Amino acid sequence: MATTYDAIIIGTGQAGPPLAVRLAEAGMKVAIIERGLFGGTCVNTGCIPTKTMVASAYAARMARRAAEYGVGIEGEIRVDMKKVKARKDAIQAPHRADVETMLRGAENCTVYTGHARLESAREVSVGGERLSAPRIFINVGGRAVVPAMPGIDQVPYLTNSSMMGVDFLPRHLAIVGGSYIGLEFGQMFRRFGSEVTIIEMAPRLIQREDEDVSAAIQEIMEHEGINLRLNAKCIALGRQGENINVSVDCEEGAPEVMASHVLLAVGRRPNTDDLGLEKAGVLQDERGNIIVDDELCTNVPGIWALGDCNGKGGFTHTAYNDFQIVAANLLDGDLPGYDPRRVSDRIPAYALYIDPPLGRAGLTEAEVRRSGKPALIGTRPMTKVGRAVEKGETQGFMKILVDAESKRILGASILGTGGDEVIHCVLDVMYAKVPYTVMERAVHIHPTVAELLPTVLEGLAPLR
Ligand SMILES: Cc1cc2nc3c(=O)[nH]c(=O)nc-3n(C[C@H](O)[C@H](O)[C@H](O)COP(=O)(O)OP(=O)(O)OC[C@H]3O[C@@H](n4cnc5c(N)ncnc54)[C@H](O)[C@@H]3O)c2cc1C
Repeated sequence: MATTYDAIIIGTGQAGPPLAVRLAEAGMKVAIIERGLFGGTCVNTGCIPTKTMVASAYAARMARRAAEYGVGIEGEIRVDMKKVKARKDAIQAPHRADVETMLRGAENCTVYTGHARLESAREVSVGGERLSAPRIFINVGGRAVVPAMPGIDQVPYLTNSSMMGVDFLPRHLAIVGGSYIGLEFGQMFRRFGSEVTIIEMAPRLIQREDEDVSAAIQEIMEHEGINLRLNAKCIALGRQGENINVSVDCEEGAPEVMASHVLLAVGRRPNTDDLGLEKAGVLQDERGNIIVDDELCTNVPGIWALGDCNGKGGFTHTAYNDFQIVAANLLDGDLPGYDPRRVSDRIPAYALYIDPPLGRAGLTEAEVRRSGKPALIGTRPMTKVGRAVEKGETQGFMKILVDAESKRILGASILGTGGDEVIHCVLDVMYAKVPYTVMERAVHIHPTVAELLPTVLEGLAPLR
């Protein structure tokens, strides 16, 4: 006999817990199931711990640069990795505990632990139990891809999850993958004191971004002594004594990287295998993402998919927004004049947390060019931003793209100090659906990085 609920939620990442509480508060009898750590990726192996470690790495960097600012620090700057990990654990642990406490304390909400599988379009099994509900919400997230490269089964390797247990300094960390996760870990471990080599199959880092952004990031990495192996083909792993030998067939450089540790950062895959989707008839795409419509409904009525497992976002803020969309459309639909919330209302936005960070909103320059729309572009190097000069952090540049006809902002890349915050000025003007001239005429605070945004807009020129 199945225990009956009004709603079953699988996964306690960024969407599941707030949805469980919202549905329970609305009077539904809710079951939520977690097979691993409460809070999911962001809390345990993603955003929070990595950004905490990025902060330690920044402190090490600034300590080494102290003399540039007239500050004397005697002796060599050394990083105590046990303390870095302890700080990270201390900051992250309460988040995990808070999620579990909130769920266990919520009225109308029952927490199950174990691996959940769909048994039908209305039934889920967990451990030896069966639960049934007319509504099932899948929030199972994703995990690191382990590519089938030669030798992978012969050597130990790290992923973003096992990196969380590292409380020592790798002598030489080789990172396979030169995108967001690889770059963040690469720069941080270089700052901690490791030799770091980033191996990327593509001809440039972080391919999804514009070429000028990739080039500036490459410069930032190389400036800190990070070895880059681009165009790496035929990557293979092997053991050589204590070392891991990563063989790469690159256009330049030695054919082998002799590393003490290897981190795989080649992408993420959704946790949709072994979920019983086929028993419920839920469709997936070729990457394993659950196919959803604009309101996050799957092809099976009564089943929704939220967060990384639907392939619509890949970020904490998009997973949380998925919760907002689903909860509002389910619970607020009877409000007078209710306008359903949709994924397509969302403007793509994210940050890369290297130092200085990259803040991104909307289209890249390459995407604008491909669209064929007449457009305007404005740029400014951080060397011409007073606040950046004062802080001694002048790497990077800003770039804003505007639709020449509607005058709406199409996208922006802010690579530079404060870029992860400054981008929100642009994002909010985009959400307001107003012409760029609104921000051009705004008076921003001096001295900030954001004060130069109106200046960038004053200098817009046709995109050729
Ligand atoms: C190193 C790293 C850094 C990141 N940094 C950022 C960042 O700075 N900013 C940002 O926005 N995003 C960042 N992300 C991405 C972000 O962590 C994810 O987008 C976000 O956590 C997705 O949330 P989610 O709710 O979809 O899934 P998750 O947080 O992955 O949660 C899914 C949960 O479901 C559970 N689960 C899975 N299958 C089952 C099952 N069958 N039964 C029961 N439970 C199950 C899992 O154990 C997990 O707890 C980062 C990711 C990584 C890996």
